[in-house]
Amino acid sequence: MKKVYLDNAATTPMLPEVIEEMVQSMNSDFGNPSATYGFGRTAKSKMELCRKTIAQLLSCSAQEIIFTSGATEANNWILRSAVTTLKVERIITSKIEHHAVLHPILALQKEFDIQVDYVDILPNGTVKLSHLTDLLSQTQPTLVSLMHVNNEIGTILPLDDVAQICKQYQAYFHSDAVQSIGKIAIKLNEVSVDFMVGSAHKFHGPKGVGFAFIRKQTPIQSILFGGEQEKGLRPGTEATHQIAGMTKALQIAINNLEVNYTTIQQLKSYAVQRLKTAFPDVIINGESKNIATILNVQLPFSNDKTSMLPFLLDMKGIAISRGSACQSGSNLPSHVIAEILSPEAQLKPSIRISFSKFNTQEDVDLLVEALKMIE
Ligand code: PLP
Repeated sequence: MKKVYLDNAATTPMLPEVIEEMVQSMNSDFGNPSATYGFGRTAKSKMELCRKTIAQLLSCSAQEIIFTSGATEANNWILRSAVTTLKVERIITSKIEHHAVLHPILALQKEFDIQVDYVDILPNGTVKLSHLTDLLSQTQPTLVSLMHVNNEIGTILPLDDVAQICKQYQAYFHSDAVQSIGKIAIKLNEVSVDFMVGSAHKFHGPKGVGFAFIRKQTPIQSILFGGEQEKGLRPGTEATHQIAGMTKALQIAINNLEVNYTTIQQLKSYAVQRLKTAFPDVIINGESKNIATILNVQLPFSNDKTSMLPFLLDMKGIAISRGSACQSGSNLPSHVIAEILSPEAQLKPSIRISFSKFNTQEDVDLLVEALKMIE
């Protein structure tokens, strides 16, 4: 049975070049980058080269990149530090953010009694910008936290427009760009976002490593206590081999961004066409011009198929998901789907099919044939 992996928004397979780079780094850069002797200096200079490379790829300066264990940590750090260091009294976010943003915000609300406002989401899954402007007309110190690309339905936030609005109202702007980094060109010298986060395993790099972009002169502090690594902003010995792997993965992703995007877009169009032919009443969740890598569809199957669908596909060797959190065995929709669909539509099976450059038309054919057998 051919295995089909169509859950690339959850994680992506690592590239052989990335694994090779990491093995090399484990062999030759094993010194502690904080040590002052040769072994340490070798590791440190390799790591700083990585920082510089990532900064160049994203058009920012190397000092603005801080390595973390992934996006969850980076989001938690930025959100908490915005309250404790920048003294924001309010966070504006949306109900369709990833839990790595929603849950820290709820914790901060409980701990610091900050105001939390949720900007309206339109039925096509996009942010209602006029509502954001309305919310920002209140004047307390505010952080806006809105993701660049939604991980379940793939809608794309107009980063520049939101950054302009935030600037106009003197609010800080944080964006979780986990699903866009390495897929959509981002020039941080052109868009006035204050904070951004990325995660290597979403662009064919290793798990357990990511980074935060902290705009220069934004005075945030660490939430961890320990050594002086990462200028004291993120104590703990840096995972040099992970950082090397992440850098290699980002380099490959960004150097091939356009060609990969076009290939994946074509595959997505093929999937839409195949699904529409097989199931004429299929509905695409989210707007049509969302990111090429994510396709979320509502299948015209009976409601009792909803909870079992991922299992049934898994038995045929096909990996897709129903959303970011594990909703296996549950009839409840994901929090994103619940926000944009009517209660009736929420009962129908919605699935997220997410692509990478490794997927083929055969993968899509196998998925559609499997769905026909389940219908
Ligand atoms: N933010 C988004 C949008 C994601 O898709 C994910 C991964 O599922 C995360 C944050 C969490 O990233 P990490 O696995 O690096 O903690």
